[in-house]
Amino acid sequence: MRERFDIVVVGAGSAGSVVAARASENPALSVLLIEAGPDYALGSAVPEDLRNGHHNSVVDHDWGLDYQPNSSGRPQTLPRGRVTGGSSAVNTAIALRPVPEDHDGWGYPEWSWAAMETVYRRLERDLDFGDQPHHGDAGPILIRRYPRPELTATHAAFLDAAAHLGWPTCPDANHPSDWGAGPQPMNKLGQLRVSTAMGYLAPARSRSNLVIRGDTSVRRIMFDGRRARGVEVLSATGEVETIEAGVVVVSCGAILSPGVLLRSGIGRRAELDRLGLDAVATMEGVGAHLSDHPAFAVLCEPTDEALVDFDGPIIQTILRHTTEGSDQRMDAQVELLSFFMRTNQDPLMFALAAVLEQCYSEGELIHTSADVDARPQITSRFCADERDARRLVRIIDDAFAFTSAPPLRDLIRTVRHPDPQRWSQMTISERVERVRRSAASGYHPCGTLRMGEVVDSRGRCLAVDGLVVADASIFPTVPRANTNLCSIAVGERIGEWLRTEPGRYGLTS
Ligand SMILES: Cc1cc2nc3c(=O)[nH]c(=O)nc-3n(C[C@H](O)[C@H](O)[C@H](O)COP(=O)(O)OP(=O)(O)OC[C@H]3O[C@@H](n4cnc5c(N)ncnc54)[C@H](O)[C@@H]3O)c2cc1C
Repeated sequence: MRERFDIVVVGAGSAGSVVAARASENPALSVLLIEAGPDYALGSAVPEDLRNGHHNSVVDHDWGLDYQPNSSGRPQTLPRGRVTGGSSAVNTAIALRPVPEDHDGWGYPEWSWAAMETVYRRLERDLDFGDQPHHGDAGPILIRRYPRPELTATHAAFLDAAAHLGWPTCPDANHPSDWGAGPQPMNKLGQLRVSTAMGYLAPARSRSNLVIRGDTSVRRIMFDGRRARGVEVLSATGEVETIEAGVVVVSCGAILSPGVLLRSGIGRRAELDRLGLDAVATMEGVGAHLSDHPAFAVLCEPTDEALVDFDGPIIQTILRHTTEGSDQRMDAQVELLSFFMRTNQDPLMFALAAVLEQCYSEGELIHTSADVDARPQITSRFCADERDARRLVRIIDDAFAFTSAPPLRDLIRTVRHPDPQRWSQMTISERVERVRRSAASGYHPCGTLRMGEVVDSRGRCLAVDGLVVADASIFPTVPRANTNLCSIAVGERIGEWLRTEPGRYGLTS
């Protein structure tokens, strides 16, 4: 093991794998990528749960995290991938881009849509639209949409019901201005999920200047005064080592990156004091501003049990639209989930998920231990802001409309949850309370080390030198799309800057 690298990237997820792959394209830079979970270097060694993109992998390569119970008293699981590829290796493989307003709203020219569209084109190999404006056909992440003949009966009926309800048809949900109902862009081929481990790391592995080290957890970043000088790691065998670095890039995701900073002495004054940690720098934004997409499922028992196939794809289609009366374009999604199970006692069901894509409510992370294995307390505060709650209520109504629109209604024996009659009799305030109690996570946490407060527009920590953050934690706001492509785009941007302008990160080579 070399003792010093120009760049040490901590966390090989959607963003970290991309940072390491792009930065190591510069042969003058030595790069170490450290991952707490296993690294499957050979394609043939990748386990079935990571290959099969029809299902999320939420057990074998998962961190076991939960949101704190909300007013319903029930904790909600928050899966996060623990493996090279990170959450991109375990997720649903929906490959949806943010809308231009998201990036423009971040407030930095280098993250504006004008600058970022090139990045989204560069990261994709879109098999349907790759040769057309706004798209790319040569990137590491393969993207494809299910053609009509491949749709399951429920997904085909969902699109027909959308047409019946008057929603426009949208063949390309990643077009910057189009909206409506159509096939979902997915980064999978057949069942095979194309993670960043597959798209970015596999072709980069043979580089002599890139080392990938799995089963190794970073305990803390080491400092000389206010300059990061390396990391202290814990190997799977329990050995503690230090590794020197020119720059440390933290890419552990929105839930775990703040803890790495905190254990290293960068965090909220009260948390540092409570945990007895020496402060390198106090930053009140560490662990604050947690955003996610609140979701609510309308559960449907089918007329025929054969319509629910747990071995088939869970997602194939999407309605992307703007909530009635909203001033935030494309702030809503309705998606049909081919199967849904709350408990083993439930009958076979599919679901219509209503998801709010642009949010004002914010949660936070609270750390109760500085141990490397400790989990933060994660508070969502979904729909605490009235504007969020009211819009999610409207999107649930949009989802409900599908249950009585032909031909989907003909595939539904009964709507099991929420009771349609009770829902229709509830006042708006009762519905608002209901979504506050029951909204669940879209699995898209972000914003806990946000740009402008903890890092600058290049991902550099504002309080110390030699420390960069590159992952979903730096999003200033939650984008109006599932967050994998946006996380990859952050990795692309910061990886590209490290490769081409290392001096701006304090590297001399
Ligand atoms: C079940 C599930 C389904 C989802 N479905 C979709 C979807 O279909 N489409 C979509 O766009 N988004 C989806 N998402 C969200 C999307 O995958 C994430 O937003 C994105 O992967 C986040 O990227 P990241 O780089 O910020 O973090 P991650 O990809 O989570 O990477 C963080 C990495 O850091 C590692 N790590 C953490 N702590 C340490 C440490 N101390 N030392 C070393 N390594 C460490 C982790 O093991 C992990 O590999 C889903 C997420 C999940 C979990």
